[in-house]
Amino acid sequence: MTQLAVFNPANGQQIANLPADDTASVVARYTKARAAQGAWAATPLALRNACIARFRDGVVRELDTLAATMTHETGKPIRISRNELNGLLPRLDFFMQEAEATLTTETVFSEGPMTEQIQHAPLGVVANISAWNYPWFVGCNVIVPALLAGNAVLYKPSEYAAMTGLAITRLLHEAGVPRDVLACLVGTGSVGAALLEQPVDGVFFTGSVATGHRIAQAVASRFIKLQLELGGKDPTYVCEDADPKSAAESLADGAMYNTGQSCCSVERIYVHEKIHDAFIAAFVDTVRGMRSGDPMNEDSYIGAITRAPQLDVLEAQVADATARGATLLLGGQRMSGPFGGAGNWFEPTVFSDVNHRMVLMQEESFGPVIGIQKVSGDAQAVQLMNDTRFGLTAGVYTPDEARARTLLAQVNAGSVYWNCCDRVSPRLPWSGYGDSGVGLTLSRYGIQAFTRTKAWHLKKAPP
Ligand code: NAD
Repeated sequence: MTQLAVFNPANGQQIANLPADDTASVVARYTKARAAQGAWAATPLALRNACIARFRDGVVRELDTLAATMTHETGKPIRISRNELNGLLPRLDFFMQEAEATLTTETVFSEGPMTEQIQHAPLGVVANISAWNYPWFVGCNVIVPALLAGNAVLYKPSEYAAMTGLAITRLLHEAGVPRDVLACLVGTGSVGAALLEQPVDGVFFTGSVATGHRIAQAVASRFIKLQLELGGKDPTYVCEDADPKSAAESLADGAMYNTGQSCCSVERIYVHEKIHDAFIAAFVDTVRGMRSGDPMNEDSYIGAITRAPQLDVLEAQVADATARGATLLLGGQRMSGPFGGAGNWFEPTVFSDVNHRMVLMQEESFGPVIGIQKVSGDAQAVQLMNDTRFGLTAGVYTPDEARARTLLAQVNAGSVYWNCCDRVSPRLPWSGYGDSGVGLTLSRYGIQAFTRTKAWHLKKAPP
């Protein structure tokens, strides 16, 4: 059997060798999922909901161990791993609370012998190909509503979070989800590609734009549901009436949280010229105070870079920005990290005097690197915020709500923030413009995404 070697990116040590899938096992899991889906869809929603409730209990019971596993395989600081698991609980609660109202068949007309109903039928067997950066969030955003809606799920976690993927699957099986209704496919992209060759009824992908293109091409000839949650280059504008210190503290966290490896990390900052210098001073101060260290230490805030090749991307962005005249205020290099040079580490890095000719302001960094650009006012800020092929989130800092609403209405982004950033709510849809993807998860629309709306025209026979 093929194996998947798992390494701890913080110290480079191998931590597991997992049995992996191959084409034959993917076909077998698909066949079993197809056979099992009908009975699962016919299970009363209350029983499916009860499985998710027991799954939630399992997450709570094992939270510390699950957080440690995630930290070992991704290099995420342990506090951030626990935050993710604690943040998962209200998402599960939301899905359980909303499932019935969202999934129950609606009678929209009833007169004489005629009745019209809308059924929210499951899609069937769906594929979930997932990313590593928030493996519990992005995995469960798909798996949980898909199961509640009556689908079978073939789940391919990232090869950089496969142990977490196996833990999610185990806990759902222990909670009562039949083994054939949810299967975890372990392996690299080739296992994901083998999954796409199966006649699944929907593909739900979270990951990079490059893989998103490959996936869209792989399923292009089939008329199936395709959702792509991709990267971002998320901008924020700090107006001259904002408090520079509190905006800087909030945005430094938005840029550096999870070591900058969030799809909705703040990746571009535009600051009004009147407060630019004060903002820069407070921002650099805040970032300087962020502790990097062994991700298992409680006080570590900056962890490892999960994928080693990303170090080259960060280095190239730094070199390009420097060559084009940006001012390097902090960091800028790989660092040896807490394990004597082992593992993948990069200094928290801050640039000012950046512009849109620099790759740093065009392409996703997905690391602890940020560019700050001075702007003359609202019109320039809006023009620069929209000068991107992405559109996941965008924000404005100002005490003036009307001004923020006017600005944010002009920005092309799936989520917009006033005086906050890097925030996801289960109650609100998560979607993007442009290369940030198509479709959505979360909110009640993120439950309906796993259904097909089927129209029922029902006429009683004359007596
Ligand atoms: P990735 O594209 O490298 O991998 C994602 C998944 O695709 C993995 O499971 C991988 O094994 C699989 N894969 C790779 N090649 C494949 C192929 N040819 N066919 C099928 N599957 C294949 O992305 P990543 O590094 O895991 O994730 C980082 C990216 O994800 C960033 O760009 C980030 O912004 C994005 N992301 C977006 C969101 C969102 O909600 N929009 C959330 C989290 C992460």
